[in-house]
Amino acid sequence: MSQFTPMIQQYLRVKADYLDAFLFFRLGDFYEMFFEDAIKASQELEITLTSRDGGAEEKIPMCGVPYHSASGYIEQLIQKGYKVAICEQTEDPKQAKGVVKREVVQLITPGTVMEGKGLIDKENNYIMSISFFKESLYGIAYTDLTTGESRATLLNSSEELLNEIATLGSKELVVDHDFDKGVIKRIQTLYNAVISFEDNDEFNLSFQTLVDELHNDELKRTAQRLLQYLTKTQKRSLDHLQPFSTYELARYMKIDYYSKRNLELTESIRGKNHKGTLLWLLDETATAMGGRLLKQWIDRPLMSKMDINKRLDLVEILKDSYFIRQELREMLKGVYDLERLTGRVAFGNANARDFIQLKKSLLQIPNIIDLTQQLKHEHAKEIGDKLDPCKDLTDLLEESIIDNPPLSVKEGGIIKDGFHDELDRYKDARRNGKQWIAELEKEEREKTGIRSLKIGYNRIFGYYIEVTRANVHLLKDERYERKQTLANSERYITPELKEKEALILQAEEKSIELEYELFLKIREFVKTYIKRIQQTAKLISELDVYQGFATLSESRHYTRPLFNSNRLLHLEEGRHPVVEKVMDSQEYVPNDCAMDESREMLLITGPNMSGKSTYMRQIALISIMAQIGCFVPAKHADIPIFDQIFTRIGAADDLISGQSTFMVEMLEAKNAIMNATDQSLILFDEIGRGTSTYDGMALAQAIIEYIHDHIGAKTLFSTHYHELTVLEDKLAQLKNIHVSAMEQNGKLVFLHKVKNGATDKSYGIHVAELAELPKELILRANEILSELENTNNIQKKVEASQKDENSNLSEQLAFFEQPVVEDQKMKKSYQKVIDKVLSINILELNPMQAMNILYEIQKDLK
Ligand code: ADP
Ligand code: MG
Repeated sequence: MSQFTPMIQQYLRVKADYLDAFLFFRLGDFYEMFFEDAIKASQELEITLTSRDGGAEEKIPMCGVPYHSASGYIEQLIQKGYKVAICEQTEDPKQAKGVVKREVVQLITPGTVMEGKGLIDKENNYIMSISFFKESLYGIAYTDLTTGESRATLLNSSEELLNEIATLGSKELVVDHDFDKGVIKRIQTLYNAVISFEDNDEFNLSFQTLVDELHNDELKRTAQRLLQYLTKTQKRSLDHLQPFSTYELARYMKIDYYSKRNLELTESIRGKNHKGTLLWLLDETATAMGGRLLKQWIDRPLMSKMDINKRLDLVEILKDSYFIRQELREMLKGVYDLERLTGRVAFGNANARDFIQLKKSLLQIPNIIDLTQQLKHEHAKEIGDKLDPCKDLTDLLEESIIDNPPLSVKEGGIIKDGFHDELDRYKDARRNGKQWIAELEKEEREKTGIRSLKIGYNRIFGYYIEVTRANVHLLKDERYERKQTLANSERYITPELKEKEALILQAEEKSIELEYELFLKIREFVKTYIKRIQQTAKLISELDVYQGFATLSESRHYTRPLFNSNRLLHLEEGRHPVVEKVMDSQEYVPNDCAMDESREMLLITGPNMSGKSTYMRQIALISIMAQIGCFVPAKHADIPIFDQIFTRIGAADDLISGQSTFMVEMLEAKNAIMNATDQSLILFDEIGRGTSTYDGMALAQAIIEYIHDHIGAKTLFSTHYHELTVLEDKLAQLKNIHVSAMEQNGKLVFLHKVKNGATDKSYGIHVAELAELPKELILRANEILSELENTNNIQKKVEASQKDENSNLSEQLAFFEQPVVEDQKMKKSYQKVIDKVLSINILELNPMQAMNILYEIQKDLK
């Protein structure tokens, strides 16, 4: 160490505490990085790597970013999953003896960013601490530092833990050093969350109100671990954190992460973008807060009929009150992100523009209260009563902050005239001084006769009188003292100008200082309203989601679902909400669904592309929409409340991950089978595809039988194994349905209509034809198919005759009398002819070609 210069020694001391972060070390107007940090940062940020003498023999690698544009670089690093420690000079360099004191003032991490592109308006940014208590018992506590929302709960398995992390999309996880490395590894391979370590989970007086609600001691310590970490890294007020509230997963419908992805609830299968997801469809919210709450609701559908109906009541009344709703939407559009605004206030990075947004938002509240009263509905009134316009606060902000303040809070220009006497005096002095200078300019021009004379200002020389070189000879007076010579002009000062300058600059400096002081005072005042604003924000986001549901329900003609507890699932003209929206709704074919005690399981057959998957998913989506309190895409819906939904998409249909193997398919099937109850909904889409035919078919059948006999969950099972349709005779609660298709001129026409019973055939080759595979290939496929079908039929006949001892002897004889091979050959050539004729496009033929075809047909028949 001693080989280095004192400053590098200081750097190394600080860096030792932040080994897992980039250390942004403030040097004058730059943040510099050294050693390994510099090498890595120069690559990640594509900035020039230089080096510097640091006392040692070899030069030290170094790179840096300007202080004023640092935020962009920090953002880039955070988005790549790094941490950045900001190390500032904590004393005035002019006063410092030796090396200026420096300290880390904040550690910015993916879970603690407060601004920038890393934050998405309609998404929470959670940081979560996890504790392992004992075998299969974990505790988690998480908070969104930007909004202050904080929650904690117990989880009963590492699966539940992984699910919760994925559902919440936590960007950063805080654990102690003893935490199971295996679990960490699994988390990191599945989701790229940053892992941070914090061993301290001790109580601290400032945590008192935050952890008060947690009655489990271990859970308390989990929350405390998070709070310790935040205190240590953020080093500032966390006044906006809300008390940790607990929640019980058991109170919500459970959908594991993979099923959520399969159903495309908040993420599409193809990627993380929203388009095409249920969230995308449902998001008619007008505020960012509403958008975030909507996502939370989709992630946790309710199970209490009372709670669901409470939501539905409000949606219904808003749906029926068109004008109030339109007005409400308008009002809500004027409400900024109150949650994040309070976060910025508490965190100390709110500026005057934030205050204007806060004021404007709060000024909408009285009108919104008024609208909630007009709805004449108990729950709406309740919300209205709790909304708080924070009148004293808006009054103060109205009086104090100008309407279009600058971004910077340290350069004045923020506070309105008339708010503060002393400030007004300084401002007057400034304005008068400027006026005086304008007049002086006029006077000097007259006095000297130089029309181009002007008075200017710069930071180094202050005010000056500028005269072009050609006119200099006109200045006779000795009052003019030359200050600066430029290419074409000279600059002068006079004693009276100097005097006035002092007054103006002093007033300016004082007013800027005072404005900043006042700003801080106002900010402290706003802080005292944080809790009240947060409460209002919460209610606003709820109202916003309700109006969004109402708006959507009206425009897309959804109906209010009814709930029953006698195992009915009746949908009349149900639709897949997203597919319907994406395609023209005119074309979407609605389908009924009838399930009850005698039809607990439906086995769905039908050609590829006919709409099996769509039909199954629409039933799950309708249930989820209903249980979050939204109307549903159907003419009539009478449905049960599900406790869990499981989906499994067969490997062949599996777009989620190319690497999905048959093993994963089976693991997920197991997950459903082990956890589903008779209150659950299971969707198995072409399961068993990932292995050989007989294998797959056998497994599919066994799975169906198992669910039928042991679970009794409502189940939709689509399959391409026609052979399975005979199960209908064997299993009392299983019924066949199929999605119909029609052959027209040898071509397949999809009707997308679901009907009772099984399909009579599969249409794979027709689909291949639709996909425009070469005609020759299609013909050949048809040939092979008929061959296969024939051998199969013959085999069946043989089997049947062998098994059936009492079968009619003459029939058997007749069978054996037939020249089997002959028969087969003939059928083959007939089929060939038929296919050939059907494949002719007559309009494309010329007479010669027609002749040729006829010749070939004749040859085949001979
Ligand atoms: P399958 O699972 O039977 O192969 P899909 O459910 O994937 O078929 O549906 C294939 C396509 O058919 C969908 O992408 C959609 O465009 C269309 N489709 C499905 N159901 C309907 C419907 N009810 N009305 C109109 N088009 C539909
Ligand atoms: Mg499908």
